[in-house]
Order: sequence, then structure tokens, then C-alpha cells
Amino acid sequence: RFVTFEGGEGVGKSTQVKRLLATLRRLSVDAVATREPGGTPKAEAIRSYILQGRSESWGAGAEAVLFAAARHDHVKELIAPSLASGKWVISDRFHDSTRAYQGLTGGVDEKLITGLEVLALDGHAPDLTIVLDMDPEEAFDRVSRRELEGALVETGDRFEKEDLEWHSRLREAFLEIARNNPERCVVIPAAQTPDALEIRIWSVLTKRFPE
Ligand code: C5P
Repeated sequence: RFVTFEGGEGVGKSTQVKRLLATLRRLSVDAVATREPGGTPKAEAIRSYILQGRSESWGAGAEAVLFAAARHDHVKELIAPSLASGKWVISDRFHDSTRAYQGLTGGVDEKLITGLEVLALDGHAPDLTIVLDMDPEEAFDRVSRRELEGALVETGDRFEKEDLEWHSRLREAFLEIARNNPERCVVIPAAQTPDALEIRIWSVLTKRFPE
């Protein structure tokens, strides 16, 4: 099983990925958690290159290609082999983030996004995508709080440049992707306590994968 978590910034994806992994392991389900951009040493190298802002002048199109290069390695080295050996794979962000950030929000042509998707996924689309949805103002508050606590050193710089309107467009982008992929995507309101959200996610999972 391949499950991805998507959504804007500050919606609590990482926490829920950790909790889901812990639950699966408690039930003796063989599972790996990973993230994008990143997940393998080469993809993590591309992640730090991008998040340090070193590719910013390249434009969104070239950045989309970089994300796809990272994803290609991630799929080939980690995701495909894990799925082949019967493991569950839980990814904090995956291909929908490229469509949302670089495509729908960043203006990269849909044909390029779709072409890159086909190349990088190589047939390994997620079985289920949880889209965590939150009002950007609330997410913004949560991120600012995390920044104060020093937890967002890596992405903080990039985040600060964007404004609320940009976050609203990003939110709409994820909702549009979910609308266009109703079989795969489930939108969950994320403005609830981590415990409540965890329970909600678990109920979606058990309904989707009853075995
Ligand atoms: O998962 P997290 O929110 O930490 O993602 C790291 C950062 O990478 C995000 O803040 C986002 O700005 C950026 N990103 C991006 N395009 C993607 C995926 C992530 O700009 N396709």
C-alpha cells in the first residue's frame, strides 16, 4: 500500500505521518515513512539545494524538473523496492505537491507537470492520498509559532516570503487536485487536535483498506 499526505504548510502532515507509522508498526504492519522533496540521499541533496534557495533564479519550470529528478530517484531506490517487498509506504508529500506548488500555483504548464509525473512515478501512483486542508490564516499562525520554537529553520526563509493570498491559492490547488482525483484523494479538515485528526485519518484508512 502506498499512502501520501499532501496539503499546504503548517497543516500538520509530518506529525500525522509519524503517528500513522507508529500505529502500523504497533499492529506489526511492515511500513516505511518517507518524505518529499527527499527520501533518498540523492533526493535529499536536491531538497537542500532547492530549500536553500539556490534554484530560485532557475524559474518554476526548471525547479519542477529538479523535483521530478529527486522523485525519480526516490521511487526507484526506495518506494518501488519497498512496495515490491510488501511494505506499506507513507510519504509526507509526493507528486501532488509539484502540481500544486510548481503547476497550479507556480504557473508551470500542465503538460510539463503531467509529463514529469509520468516519468518520475513510473507507474507507482499512490493508492490513497490524504489532503490535509486548513484555512491558511490558521496554518500561518501555526507555522509562525513553530518558527519561534526553532523547528522550521530549514524552510522558514522560503515561507516568510509568501503571503496569505499565495497560501490561499495553494490551498485551492490541493483542493482542485483532490476534486480531479476523487478515487484516490480524501480531503480532511486539519483544524482539529492532532489526536482527533489521527483518529479521523485512521478511520479513512481502515475503510479504504479493510483487510
Ligand atoms: O513538507 P514541507 O512543508 O516541509 O516542504 C518543504 C518545502 O518545500 C515547503 O515549504 C515548500 O515550500 C517546498 N516545496 C515546493 N515544491 C514542492 C514541494 C515542496 O516548493 N513540490
